[in-house]
Formats: sequence, structure tokens, C-alpha cells
Amino acid sequence: MNLNLITQKFTKLFPGDFSGNRMQRQTPDVMFCAIKPADFNNIELIDFNENLSIEIALGNFDNEKDFLAAQNLPENVETYATAYVGHQFGNWAGQLGDGRAIYAGEVINGNKQTEIQWKGAGATPYSRNADGRAVLRSSIREYLMSEAMFHLGVPTTRALSLSKTGEDVIRDIQYSGNPQKEQGAVVVRTAESFLRFGHFELLSARKQNDLLKQLADYTIENFFPEVSSENNSTKYINWFQAICDRTLKMIIDWYRVGFVHGVMNTDNMSVLGLTIDYGPYSMMDGYDLEFTPNTTDLPGRRYAFGKQGQIAHWNLATLANAIFPLISDAEVLEKILDHFGKQFWTKHDKMLADKFGFDEVLAEDEKFFTEWQQMMQDLNLDYTLFFQQLEKPISEIKTDDFKDSFYRNLNENELKKLSEFIEKYQTRKSKNKISEAESLELMSKTNPKFILRNYLLFEAIQDAENGNYEMFFKLKKALENPYENLYPEFNQKRPSKYDNQTGSSQLSCSS
Ligand code: AMP
Ligand code: MG
Repeated sequence: MNLNLITQKFTKLFPGDFSGNRMQRQTPDVMFCAIKPADFNNIELIDFNENLSIEIALGNFDNEKDFLAAQNLPENVETYATAYVGHQFGNWAGQLGDGRAIYAGEVINGNKQTEIQWKGAGATPYSRNADGRAVLRSSIREYLMSEAMFHLGVPTTRALSLSKTGEDVIRDIQYSGNPQKEQGAVVVRTAESFLRFGHFELLSARKQNDLLKQLADYTIENFFPEVSSENNSTKYINWFQAICDRTLKMIIDWYRVGFVHGVMNTDNMSVLGLTIDYGPYSMMDGYDLEFTPNTTDLPGRRYAFGKQGQIAHWNLATLANAIFPLISDAEVLEKILDHFGKQFWTKHDKMLADKFGFDEVLAEDEKFFTEWQQMMQDLNLDYTLFFQQLEKPISEIKTDDFKDSFYRNLNENELKKLSEFIEKYQTRKSKNKISEAESLELMSKTNPKFILRNYLLFEAIQDAENGNYEMFFKLKKALENPYENLYPEFNQKRPSKYDNQTGSSQLSCSS
């Protein structure tokens, strides 16, 4: 690997604390703290994502096991953690920051730069009484899911490697007073930038308007080619519009593939519109707008599948408040936010039309989509398998074939509902102006044949914890081609034994 390509751009431009002090603390004047990763004595590299490494100019693996576990770092790598704040579950949470992410710096390749971070490599000043470690379980979840999302075509951070640290880490998965030893692990993750809404909220809350402007300029110049970096009155307005557009694209993609993030706090929202911080997320099995895998969120279901559009809107409004000093025009910001709300439904309908193989959204489709959604909600059909059953020449679609997507026995009335819907679908599809083949092609590009279901991850994790990585590597292969049915054994609904399984259908933030 070309580790000599790693530079420190961000830390040269912005104020930081270079004391190296590990003490967990408020850092009111700076945007980051230089901090060294922890020492691990018995590291083991589990997997390295060579394609990604080549793509970001770090090149082939040449035994950089130490680097990938944040050990014995070359001199050009000056590590640091950044400060950010956030609104968690709707409430101001004050200073958060990289509690267990440590930056190596950026790799600059032409006009593209990629930030490199270890997740789980030790405590930082932002660890807030926690250990800065990550366990194998959550590291496998981040490693595989971020790559699964990439291959599904969803904007996301990525994962370069997975290592075990050789350390035991204590976690109480169910927060039930039963802490247990788990294996420690480190993921190296990459993104053009890990800047979050919370980084901007931080400077705004501190009333550091010059720094806020500087960070916005840096972000626009480096990561928003669609926004002119020329200094004129509309620059920051256009930037906010671009953030809304990118966030919208991401959320619509989440709906397309059935992804539930689980913790859409503003500190977990990338300003670049990337899916970030894979915690208690889940792909949705049975369709349910109220579904959240996050046990911490169960009472309010703030971050349930069906609410993600609304919550993105709320988070964007919070960001608008934070960057208000750069724009000083509440009306224009409100207009952009309003537009997001309207665009959401336009794009959502277009996405559904693609899933159904319709060439365009007709006026009558709003009713069709609403009826479909109600049916899915009532019948709790498997979201992914349902669309695969539709992906056939119209005359070959049979109600009986949908049985594989049932999570319970449907009564006569419910079966009737389903067959009536299929008839309506057939009628609606006959209005297409594109050919059957073109419609099926559109559906096959839109509807995944492989999704990384939580129960699959659960099985891979159980095996990996016992030293068997066969399932892990099989899933890794499967997720690289999610629009092809290469692994029919994975293209199945969740087995009933996993219906109420902690770690499969119920996840906590403990990671
Ligand atoms: P999350 O809910 O995972 O987005 O985390 C919220 C905040 O807690 C962030 O500042 C994280 O860096 C921090 N955090 C979560 N887990 C740990 C941990 N094990 N050690 C240190 N900080 C953590
Ligand atoms: Mg987070």
C-alpha cells in the first residue's frame, strides 16, 4: 500500500489541540485533537478490501497488517479525532465527537481525496467515559453492510479492512446488567469526507462564525463540485440545496432497498449525503412502516422505516439553523426545506414506479401506491421477495407464488386482497409505453435479489466469534452482486426462529 500518500490537509487548515492529552474533556476552542491509537498486542487481519484500496490510490496489500490495526504507524500519519455535536432522538446532546473513530488523514489522488479512519482503535478526548473500542460483532456489521450498500448503489462510507485487536472488550448487549467479554475489532473505513451535520452545528453553537464559514468553504470546494465555489451571495444557498438533494437521493435509495438506519441523529448524518455510522440498522424483511431494529428507539419509533423521510427533513432543518449565519435569509431556507418535502414524494413515487416497472408515474398511481402500501402493511409481506414475484411477464404472475413472502398464514380475505392487487397491477402495467422486456430490465436494476438481512449477519457473526469465517466470506461475495440471484439460499425470507432474536430482529446501540 502507498501509505506515503496519506497527508494531513484538514488538520493544517483548522484549529486543533496537539497536546496529545487523552483525557476525556470539552474542547471549546478547537475542532480536533491529535490523539494516538491504543496499543494492541495480538492483532489479526480478517479481511482487506483490495478493490477499494486500489480505487482510492492506496494500492495493493503488501503486508500492512499493522497499519490496518492502527499499530506502528509511519511518520507521515498524524492521527486525530474531531469534535462535533448533535441532536440525539430530537434533543440537543452537546459535544459528542469521534469517540472511537481516529483519523489517519487523507489520501489525495488527483482532484479526489479520501479520508481514512479506524473505528475502534482506542479512546479519544471525545469518548465520554466509554472505551473507544468496537467489538467483532458490530465491526462485521459495519464492514459488510457499508460494502453491501455500495454495491446496491446507495451513497455510503466504505470499509477497507477488518482486523481483530486481540483484546477483550466488555459489553452489555441488552443493557440488562449482564456485561460480557467480547472480541475487540477495528474497521478501517473511508469516505471522501466524514463531515457530519454535527460538525457545523458545533461551530454554530459556539458562535464561531468565521470558522463556520471556513468549514463551509472547505466543504464546498472539496466535496461539492455541483456548487460554484465563487464567492457570491448564492453560494451557501446553493450548497444547502445540494445537501438537501443528496440527502434526498440517499433516503429514497434507503426506501428502494428497504434499509432502516436506526439512529438518524444529526451527528450520524453526513453532510455529503452518505449513509454513515452503521449501528443498529437493519434491512427490512416483512414490510412495516413502523419497523425499527433499534431497541433504544422502540418506545417512540422515531427512526422507524416509514419516518426516515420526515426525520431527514427535521435534520436538514436543524442544519439550516446551524448554517443560518452564512445565509441570513430564513425565507429562502424555508423554501428549500419545503421543496424537499414536495420533492420527497415526487422522487418516492418515481422510485416505486421503477420498482413496479412502470415507465412513468401516472396521475392514477398515487392511489395505486397508497393501496399497495396499505396492503403491504396489513399483510406484512416480505418487501424484497414481493417485488421479485412481480418481476415476470404479466401473465405469469400468480398469487400462489407469493407464499414465500408471507410471515404468517393469510386468511381468505387477505389472500383475496392480494389477488385483487395483482389484477390491478396487471391492468396498470398494460398502460406502459415501453415493452415488457424493457420494463423487466428496469425492475431488475431497481429491485435487489440479495439483501444483507440481519439474520444472515447474525449467523455470520456467531460463526466468526467461534473463528469460522466461511459465512462471512460467502456473504461478502453475495453482496457484490445484489441484483443477481447468485445465492438462492440467501434470497429467502427470514426463518421464523429469528423472529424475536436479539442481534437479529432486535439490536441495541451497544457496539
Ligand atoms: P453513536 O450513537 O454510535 O453514533 O455514538 C454517539 C457518540 O458516542 C459518538 O460520539 C460516538 O463516538 C460515541 N461512542 C459510541 N460508542 C463508543 C465507545 N465504545 N467508546 C467511545 N465513544 C463511543
Ligand atoms: Mg455516530
